[in-house]
Amino acid sequence: MITYHTENYNDNWGDMLACPKCKDHYVHFRRPRYIKSGDVSGVAWEGRGDAIKLELYCEQGHDWTIRLGHHKGQTYLKVEDIKDGIIG
Ligand SMILES: [Zn+2]
Repeated sequence: MITYHTENYNDNWGDMLACPKCKDHYVHFRRPRYIKSGDVSGVAWEGRGDAIKLELYCEQGHDWTIRLGHHKGQTYLKVEDIKDGIIG
C-alpha cells in the first residue's frame, strides 16, 4: 500500500509520498529499473510481463520499492521490500 502525507504542499504536483514504515514525508528515490519478462537475475516479479521497480528511501533510514508489474494485459502496483536501510 502506498502511503501519502496528509497535507500536500501543492495540489498541482500530486500526492506527497510518505515512508510506509515511519510515515516520514522526506522521501527520495533512486533511478528506476525496467525489468524485461523472463529476466533471470532475481529481480523479476512473478507475473508474465515486464516490471518497473522504483527504489525509495526516507531520511529516517528506511528503504522500500514501488513495483509496477504487467501480467496478461493488466498492471499491478505494490509496495515491497520495506526495510531499514542506509540513507543515500
Ligand atoms: Zn521511514
